[in-house]
Amino acid sequence: MFGSLLKGLQTTWRYMFRQPVTVQYPDVKRPVRERFKGRHELKRFANGMERCIGCSLCAAACPADAILVVPAANDPQDPVSPGERYAATYEINMLRCIFCGYCEDACPTNAIVLEHQYELSFYDRRSSIYTKDMLLVPQDKGHGEVPPILEQLGRQPSPPARIDL
Ligand code: SF4
Ligand code: SF4
Repeated sequence: MFGSLLKGLQTTWRYMFRQPVTVQYPDVKRPVRERFKGRHELKRFANGMERCIGCSLCAAACPADAILVVPAANDPQDPVSPGERYAATYEINMLRCIFCGYCEDACPTNAIVLEHQYELSFYDRRSSIYTKDMLLVPQDKGHGEVPPILEQLGRQPSPPARIDL
Protein backbone atom coordinates (compact mmCIF):
# COMPACT_ATOMS: atom_id res chain seq x y z
CA MET A 1 0.00 0.00 0.00
CA PHE A 2 2.83 2.38 0.89
CA GLY A 3 4.43 1.57 -2.49
CA SER A 4 1.22 2.50 -4.33
CA LEU A 5 1.04 5.76 -2.41
CA LEU A 6 4.60 6.65 -3.40
CA LYS A 7 3.85 5.75 -7.01
CA GLY A 8 0.81 8.04 -7.00
CA LEU A 9 2.81 10.92 -5.49
CA GLN A 10 5.53 10.36 -8.06
CA THR A 11 2.97 10.85 -10.84
CA THR A 12 1.66 13.98 -9.11
CA TRP A 13 5.17 15.45 -8.89
CA ARG A 14 5.92 14.57 -12.49
CA TYR A 15 2.90 16.51 -13.80
CA MET A 16 3.20 19.41 -11.36
CA PHE A 17 5.85 21.19 -13.44
CA ARG A 18 4.40 20.49 -16.90
CA GLN A 19 2.26 22.84 -18.98
CA PRO A 20 -1.46 22.07 -18.34
CA VAL A 21 -3.28 20.49 -21.29
CA THR A 22 -6.62 22.04 -20.34
CA VAL A 23 -7.66 25.50 -21.56
CA GLN A 24 -9.72 28.01 -19.60
CA TYR A 25 -12.74 28.08 -21.91
CA PRO A 26 -14.47 30.48 -22.64
CA ASP A 27 -11.63 32.92 -21.84
CA VAL A 28 -9.25 30.83 -23.93
CA LYS A 29 -10.43 29.21 -27.15
CA ARG A 30 -8.52 26.64 -29.12
CA PRO A 31 -8.33 27.30 -32.87
CA VAL A 32 -10.39 24.82 -34.85
CA ARG A 33 -9.16 22.82 -37.86
CA GLU A 34 -9.24 24.47 -41.26
CA ARG A 35 -12.03 22.16 -42.48
CA PHE A 36 -14.19 22.58 -39.35
CA LYS A 37 -17.84 23.17 -40.22
CA GLY A 38 -19.56 25.57 -37.85
CA ARG A 39 -22.26 28.21 -38.04
CA HIS A 40 -23.29 29.24 -41.55
CA GLU A 41 -22.72 32.65 -43.11
CA LEU A 42 -24.34 34.13 -46.20
CA LYS A 43 -21.58 35.83 -48.16
CA ARG A 44 -21.46 38.89 -50.42
CA PHE A 45 -19.49 39.89 -53.49
CA ALA A 46 -16.80 42.60 -53.23
CA ASN A 47 -19.30 45.19 -54.56
CA GLY A 48 -21.57 44.48 -51.56
CA MET A 49 -24.20 42.51 -53.48
CA GLU A 50 -25.57 39.35 -51.92
CA ARG A 51 -24.19 36.17 -53.46
CA CYS A 52 -27.41 34.27 -52.86
CA ILE A 53 -29.59 34.17 -55.99
CA GLY A 54 -32.48 32.36 -54.29
CA CYS A 55 -32.13 29.17 -56.35
CA SER A 56 -32.94 26.85 -53.39
CA LEU A 57 -30.32 24.27 -54.41
CA CYS A 58 -29.00 24.33 -50.83
CA ALA A 59 -32.47 23.52 -49.51
CA ALA A 60 -32.83 20.68 -52.02
CA ALA A 61 -29.45 19.23 -51.04
CA CYS A 62 -30.05 19.44 -47.30
CA PRO A 63 -30.66 15.93 -45.90
CA ALA A 64 -32.22 17.34 -42.72
CA ASP A 65 -34.69 19.69 -44.46
CA ALA A 66 -33.24 22.49 -42.34
CA ILE A 67 -33.20 25.31 -44.92
CA LEU A 68 -36.08 27.50 -46.05
CA VAL A 69 -35.55 29.78 -49.06
CA VAL A 70 -38.28 32.06 -50.39
CA PRO A 71 -37.01 33.78 -53.55
CA ALA A 72 -38.20 37.08 -55.00
CA ALA A 73 -37.50 38.85 -58.31
CA ASN A 74 -34.79 41.49 -58.27
CA ASP A 75 -35.75 45.08 -59.00
CA PRO A 76 -33.55 45.92 -62.07
CA GLN A 77 -33.10 49.48 -60.74
CA ASP A 78 -31.97 48.34 -57.31
CA PRO A 79 -30.93 44.66 -57.42
CA VAL A 80 -30.06 42.84 -54.22
CA SER A 81 -28.10 40.08 -56.00
CA PRO A 82 -26.58 39.88 -59.50
CA GLY A 83 -29.05 37.22 -60.69
CA GLU A 84 -32.72 37.40 -61.67
CA ARG A 85 -33.76 36.62 -58.13
CA TYR A 86 -32.56 36.92 -54.56
CA ALA A 87 -33.52 35.25 -51.30
CA ALA A 88 -36.30 37.33 -49.75
CA THR A 89 -36.37 34.84 -46.86
CA TYR A 90 -33.49 32.59 -45.89
CA GLU A 91 -33.70 30.55 -42.71
CA ILE A 92 -31.76 27.64 -41.23
CA ASN A 93 -33.13 25.55 -38.40
CA MET A 94 -30.02 24.89 -36.31
CA LEU A 95 -31.77 22.19 -34.30
CA ARG A 96 -32.13 20.15 -37.48
CA CYS A 97 -28.75 20.96 -39.02
CA ILE A 98 -26.16 18.19 -38.81
CA PHE A 99 -23.34 20.40 -40.21
CA CYS A 100 -22.70 18.09 -43.14
CA GLY A 101 -21.85 20.93 -45.54
CA TYR A 102 -24.03 19.64 -48.41
CA CYS A 103 -25.65 23.08 -48.70
CA GLU A 104 -22.21 24.64 -49.15
CA ASP A 105 -21.31 22.10 -51.84
CA ALA A 106 -24.58 22.60 -53.72
CA CYS A 107 -24.43 26.42 -53.82
CA PRO A 108 -23.49 27.69 -57.31
CA THR A 109 -22.34 31.12 -56.08
CA ASN A 110 -20.51 30.15 -52.85
CA ALA A 111 -23.10 32.14 -50.95
CA ILE A 112 -23.64 29.78 -48.03
CA VAL A 113 -20.46 28.85 -46.16
CA LEU A 114 -20.00 26.95 -42.91
CA GLU A 115 -17.53 29.00 -40.91
CA HIS A 116 -15.62 28.35 -37.68
CA GLN A 117 -18.09 29.71 -35.12
CA TYR A 118 -19.25 26.86 -32.86
CA GLU A 119 -20.90 28.68 -29.98
CA LEU A 120 -24.51 27.89 -30.81
CA SER A 121 -26.89 27.79 -27.90
CA PHE A 122 -30.44 28.90 -27.34
CA TYR A 123 -33.05 28.67 -24.62
CA ASP A 124 -36.08 27.92 -26.80
CA ARG A 125 -36.84 26.22 -30.10
CA ARG A 126 -37.88 29.44 -31.82
CA SER A 127 -34.37 30.87 -31.29
CA SER A 128 -32.88 27.92 -33.18
CA ILE A 129 -34.19 29.41 -36.45
CA TYR A 130 -31.36 31.56 -37.80
CA THR A 131 -32.78 34.19 -40.12
CA LYS A 132 -31.19 35.93 -43.10
CA ASP A 133 -30.42 38.99 -40.95
CA MET A 134 -28.43 36.76 -38.60
CA LEU A 135 -26.64 34.85 -41.37
CA LEU A 136 -25.78 37.62 -43.86
CA VAL A 137 -22.31 39.15 -43.45
CA PRO A 138 -22.02 42.98 -43.20
CA GLN A 139 -21.97 45.04 -46.42
CA ASP A 140 -18.21 45.70 -46.26
CA LYS A 141 -17.28 42.04 -45.77
CA GLY A 142 -17.71 40.98 -49.40
CA HIS A 143 -15.04 39.35 -51.55
CA GLY A 144 -14.65 38.07 -55.12
CA GLU A 145 -15.96 39.52 -58.35
CA VAL A 146 -19.42 38.82 -59.76
CA PRO A 147 -19.15 36.22 -62.57
CA PRO A 148 -20.23 37.79 -65.91
CA ILE A 149 -22.87 35.10 -66.44
CA LEU A 150 -24.71 36.23 -63.32
CA GLU A 151 -24.69 39.86 -64.40
CA GLN A 152 -25.98 38.87 -67.83
CA LEU A 153 -28.79 36.89 -66.24
CA GLY A 154 -29.83 40.00 -64.37
CA ARG A 155 -30.08 42.03 -67.58
CA GLN A 156 -31.43 39.42 -70.01
CA PRO A 157 -33.79 37.07 -68.23
CA SER A 158 -34.47 33.84 -70.15
CA PRO A 159 -37.97 33.50 -71.60
CA PRO A 160 -40.21 31.06 -69.70
CA ALA A 161 -39.99 27.48 -70.96
CA ARG A 162 -42.78 26.47 -73.36
CA ILE A 163 -44.28 23.02 -73.17
CA ASP A 164 -46.17 21.84 -76.27
CA LEU A 165 -48.78 19.28 -75.32
S1 SF4 B 1 -24.94 21.71 -43.12
FE1 SF4 B 1 -26.12 19.94 -43.90
S2 SF4 B 1 -27.82 19.71 -42.48
FE2 SF4 B 1 -26.97 21.75 -42.12
S3 SF4 B 1 -28.20 23.12 -43.38
FE3 SF4 B 1 -26.40 22.51 -44.62
S4 SF4 B 1 -27.07 20.71 -45.80
FE4 SF4 B 1 -28.56 21.03 -44.13
S1 SF4 C 1 -27.40 29.90 -50.72
FE1 SF4 C 1 -26.69 29.25 -52.75
S2 SF4 C 1 -27.81 27.35 -53.18
FE2 SF4 C 1 -28.88 28.39 -51.49
S3 SF4 C 1 -30.51 29.60 -52.48
FE3 SF4 C 1 -28.71 30.94 -52.23
S4 SF4 C 1 -27.56 30.75 -54.17
FE4 SF4 C 1 -29.00 29.03 -54.09
